[in-house]
Amino acid sequence: MIDPFGRHVSYLRVSVTDRCDFRCVYCMAEDMTFLPKRDLLSLEELDRMCSAFIDKGVKKLRLTGGEPLVRKGIMTLVENLGRHLRSGALEELTLTTNGSQLAKYASELVAHGVRRINVSVDTLDAAKFKQITRWGDLAKVKDGIRAAQAAGLAIKINAVALKGVNEQEIPEMIRWCGDEGMDLTLIETMPLGDIDGDRTDQYLPLSVVRAQLMDQFTLEDIPYKTGGPARYVKVKETGGRLGFITPLTHNFCESCNRVRLTCTGTLYMCLGQEDAADLRAPLRASEGNELLHAAIDEAITRKPKGHDFIIDRRHNKPAVSRHMSVTGG
Ligand code: SAM
Ligand code: SF4
Repeated sequence: MIDPFGRHVSYLRVSVTDRCDFRCVYCMAEDMTFLPKRDLLSLEELDRMCSAFIDKGVKKLRLTGGEPLVRKGIMTLVENLGRHLRSGALEELTLTTNGSQLAKYASELVAHGVRRINVSVDTLDAAKFKQITRWGDLAKVKDGIRAAQAAGLAIKINAVALKGVNEQEIPEMIRWCGDEGMDLTLIETMPLGDIDGDRTDQYLPLSVVRAQLMDQFTLEDIPYKTGGPARYVKVKETGGRLGFITPLTHNFCESCNRVRLTCTGTLYMCLGQEDAADLRAPLRASEGNELLHAAIDEAITRKPKGHDFIIDRRHNKPAVSRHMSVTGG
């Protein structure tokens, strides 16, 4: 799949549910209305969708959400998708999780071919963790991380940089990840969906964080790539890798290889634009995949050049109305 700007689309992210057992302040309002269950694709339909994308050249598949591990029967989907790893059609099957259910699922994930996962942890302070996630329990997430490590999963920690919240803690997180042999990626808050607060108060440019970190750490640029948007440095003092995802301070759209499928079968060709393609109708219209393949091809011709995120006092409305949990982070 090649888009109008010559970019190869080889990476599919699938939001398998918009529901979640946390309510992170930058992601959701506390009182969220979720999609009616009857609108969701079944696990079989999700499998068919993913397989169609793999037929069309997707090499990397990330399950996300909402919280992917709260979707009922999710391990059946992971197990079934594992066949594409064994056949060699798919190079990587991975997921992004808040870690709350990892203790339960870590060894199954490994058994089905998952090798690497991203776990979101924004702070190591239990009280602050509760404040940020509203419903989360840091101890449980840490147990999950330990279980994942014991099962042999490589872990990357994702942390959203939040002004005045975890800003001072980033050096400690770098040391923790270094000690635990985990990569760490910092993310700028993106203006997606209404939340119960003002994002201008949360937004912390990573250019500022990076400059502050240079007082304590030696950061060496490295060419390491995972297929995602992060740019990596090596932290000399810990030996660990540190990634920066900077949709606001440095737009990374020129190398975008991704599209995103929601749990209702809507394909978003860009996280930061409203345009979308309905793939559920062509999927359900026939048993064969011709209509679905044609709809995917047509959608790829509409992949936009990039997003237009801005966060400042004059632009404090979401760039797009849907939450990150719908499109999948
Ligand atoms: N529930 C899982 C989790 O938290 O890892 C997967 C879905 S979550 C939407 C994926 C990632 O998006 C998480 O790392 C989360 O911190 C990040 N995220 C959510 N809302 C965001 C926003 N408005 N700006 C930047 N990152 C956001
Ligand atoms: Fe849930 Fe992940 Fe959003 Fe937090 S960031 S509310 S864990 S979907």
